[in-house]
Amino acid sequence: MKLDASMAAIVTGGASGLGEATARMLAAAGAKVAILDMNEERGRAVAEDIGGLFARTDVSDEASVDAALAAARAAHGPARIVVNCAGIAPGKRTVAKKRDTGEPVAHDIATFARTVAINLVGTFTVAAKAAADMAALAPVTPDGGRGVIVCTASVAATDGQIGQAAYAASKAGVVGMTLPVARDLSTLGIRVMTIMPGLFETPMFASVPEDYRTALEASVPFPSRLGKAEEYAALVRAIIENDMLNGSAIRLDGAIRLAP
Ligand code: NAD
Repeated sequence: MKLDASMAAIVTGGASGLGEATARMLAAAGAKVAILDMNEERGRAVAEDIGGLFARTDVSDEASVDAALAAARAAHGPARIVVNCAGIAPGKRTVAKKRDTGEPVAHDIATFARTVAINLVGTFTVAAKAAADMAALAPVTPDGGRGVIVCTASVAATDGQIGQAAYAASKAGVVGMTLPVARDLSTLGIRVMTIMPGLFETPMFASVPEDYRTALEASVPFPSRLGKAEEYAALVRAIIENDMLNGSAIRLDGAIRLAP
């Protein structure tokens, strides 16, 4: 699908990090962008900067997603491009800190449930509801394609570290739903893809303890650095523009191999 100026796009988590870079990329390509995010101050600032719309949204709250999608639809029409970046990463800890807690796992049950509610159920909620909107649009590709949904998992989906039980489980769920949701939506000409980022230079990553961060950086074989949010946005664009990409999860991680 060619990315052109007539398209409406939704970016959850677009107030910060990977989502912000994606919102900026889409706006620069001419798309009409709606940012759905919990962070009102930052979300409004980015939306204003790119000439887009902001809707304060909690993706784990179905009514909040309904209201945000209605606002985006009223302003721009149904979105052909949906990028799910909203997410939280609780309890990333060093091995030493984990051992200090004396607990069998790093999370309490409520944290585990909230992480899954935002990262997994929230991603599914936005995808399912946005797909229902997208169904009203006419196809735009020779194959009958209507649009694309991109989700964001993590390499933790298959390689979760100490302290990452909730995060890894939530992201494994996103990877797991990608193929069946793509198959479900194939009758509508809607593609679904997931990106599994490794380590990216964003505010989320800034909260990781310094010793853990140094160890993580050392585990990226090439290029030996953190990823840039613009590199994530570039993959989103490549996915939008390649109609054969559907139903899979792509690692974007510099072949990271975390130390045992
Ligand atoms: P970030 O913290 O910079 O941005 C996440 C955004 O999501 C924030 O603006 C936040 O307000 C929003 N958000 C959080 N909970 C929300 C909710 N309930 N409803 C709506 N919005 C909500 O993080 P980031 O690094 O840009 O991460 C984006 C996505 O990429 C996340 O899903 C994250 O798990 C994933 N990821 C990031 C990295 C990395 O290294 N940065 C690695 C792997 C995966």
